[in-house]
Amino acid sequence: MDEFIKQLDPNLDYISHEINNGKCYITVTSNRKEVTCPFCGRPSSRIHSTYNRTFQDLPMQGNKVFIIIRNRKMFCDNSDCNHTTFAERFDFISCKAKKTRRLEDEIVRLSINCSSIAASKALKENVVDIGKSTVCNLLKKRNTSC
Ligand SMILES: [Zn+2]
Repeated sequence: MDEFIKQLDPNLDYISHEINNGKCYITVTSNRKEVTCPFCGRPSSRIHSTYNRTFQDLPMQGNKVFIIIRNRKMFCDNSDCNHTTFAERFDFISCKAKKTRRLEDEIVRLSINCSSIAASKALKENVVDIGKSTVCNLLKKRNTSC
């Protein structure tokens, strides 16, 4: 399981997982000692708080995968920075997204040759909970028609 998480990002550590009703919930944490402020680029190791953030990732052995990360909010100690705190960010997911980029790629790949209704139906069976409008939006974002 740790390997699956490390493939997503080597900065993540696996904590625990639970499989329930075809859904796998994996709890992870970041192992970075320092986090770089996205606004000024200065690294910080002072933790302000942590909160749980949940998003979906690629399915595993027929189970839909939900990752729960203990996301950290850090202090930025740079007095020239216009932010005093910032949330840790990761390359595998955009900051407000509910799905990892590798899952979005998979959805696009599976949807590209069928209608968005058929795609969302097929995806719901064993990949991801997704509505047809989300499929459309993803395809639009990738500059393909739907
Ligand atoms: Zn800063």
